[in-house]
Amino acid sequence: MNVYDSARMADVLAPLGYARVDGPEQADMIILNTCHIREKAAEKVYSELGRLRDLKQQRAAENPDAQPPILAVAGCVAQAEGAEMLARAPFLDIVFGPQTYHRLPEMIARAERATSQGWQGGGRNGGRGAGVLDTEFPVVTKFDHLSNAAASTGTMAGAGCSAFLTIQEGCDKFCTFCVVPYTRGAEFSRPGLAVLVECRGLVDAGVREVTLLGQNVNAYHGVAPNGGTWDLAELIVQLAKIEGLTRIRYTTSHPRDMNERLYAAHGDCDKLMPYMHLPAQSGSDRILAAMNRGYTATEYLSSVARLRQARPDIAISGDFIVGFPGESEADFEATMELVRAVNYAQAYSFKYSARPGTPAALLETQVPEDVRATRLQRLQTLLDSQQQAFNRQMVGRRICLLLDRRGRRPGQLVGRSPYMQAVHLNGPATMLGQLVDVDITAAHANSLAGQLVGQVLHGGPERATQSAPANVSGSMEQIV
Ligand code: SAH
Ligand code: SF4
Repeated sequence: MNVYDSARMADVLAPLGYARVDGPEQADMIILNTCHIREKAAEKVYSELGRLRDLKQQRAAENPDAQPPILAVAGCVAQAEGAEMLARAPFLDIVFGPQTYHRLPEMIARAERATSQGWQGGGRNGGRGAGVLDTEFPVVTKFDHLSNAAASTGTMAGAGCSAFLTIQEGCDKFCTFCVVPYTRGAEFSRPGLAVLVECRGLVDAGVREVTLLGQNVNAYHGVAPNGGTWDLAELIVQLAKIEGLTRIRYTTSHPRDMNERLYAAHGDCDKLMPYMHLPAQSGSDRILAAMNRGYTATEYLSSVARLRQARPDIAISGDFIVGFPGESEADFEATMELVRAVNYAQAYSFKYSARPGTPAALLETQVPEDVRATRLQRLQTLLDSQQQAFNRQMVGRRICLLLDRRGRRPGQLVGRSPYMQAVHLNGPATMLGQLVDVDITAAHANSLAGQLVGQVLHGGPERATQSAPANVSGSMEQIV
């Protein structure tokens, strides 16, 4: 979601004359877009800020007549720390949260006013005045401003062939370990029509694959054009009608928000890719309850079974936390058991990280670091072996790839399989952005190697779409 947010910041800044540069050395403004989900991610911000402060001072020394670059911190660390961050890093010019970046032009103007005063008066830390802070949750959402910004500047043109599209943001579930409800705010779904319009714009700019984003994307319940409500399954059905859009993905889902219509969409909608990221966190019912997840291990497994029933080849991915406070060896074994039962194609696993302000951080049953580290290693060994087995069984198969970037070696291209694997192959750069058929020749730990099968075979969906068109209002017809 931060990648999406950064792209939208670029949209907002384009009318002010800002364009992306390759590195901080040439930049007039540097924005760090930050993540607060685990301690490690948050720590990185301050070490990076130290480097940027040195850069700012060096540039001021080299060219004392020029204004130093504006330094800003965005995202969830900024939201969580707010004024504290300005106090700890007084050389910062702007600190703003994930819900206010549409107000960047205003913040920049305020920072520049403060600068010219501080600068002329020989102010502090490279000549800037007091830092600007904006960590509100405004009533008018950023999305109302952003689509206009993108449409008016045409910056979507840089989107490539695969793009993110935020449809839902925030969370009301309050898992006891998680900062998201505090940093991203309450759950919000964008209206269906706004999502269709943005998607249409992306497709017009050359996008073939869209990944719908949300903290709990399957909790999506946007206003429908007829005044009713669309759930995620309905939104996917509507998006699938957009000609030129060939692949739809979504992430991240919450097991509690799965419904029959969404399972069915995996069987019916050919543009919906056979890949599902469904975080489990733990396989122990006791720990799941302490986490406030709202499902049991059995319920999680039955969601996976329903998905496989709807789409037998679906690749399942997940998230896990080991060493949640109070996790015993038996609880951890239950997680290993769940992993064995699911057989994941891919997964993300983390040591529990105590986050300030969350209920679990206050529990006295914190698991020692060495125990967390050993459990993580055991879990990752198992998950890695499952991923490698999944990759190995692809060898010899012919699959469809969306070639989305150049590889590191000359003449090499990289594409994504329907199951989210990166596949390397040799081919002309003119094929970038196209769907091609490929024979898989080798499997590595994190990627596959393939060989192009003649010419490009696909221009439309990868299988014929079977889903029946639903009632479509006039305005929507124009969009799709
Ligand atoms: N909304 C999604 C996940 C969002 S956060 C869900 O509920 O499943 C992304 C992942 O970060 C989580 O799935 C979890 O595995 C991990 N995570 C979140 N908070 C964490 C913490 N305090 N310590 C370790 N991992 C954490
Ligand atoms: Fe965090 Fe996900 Fe739980 Fe929401 S549902 S609190 S985002 S882990």
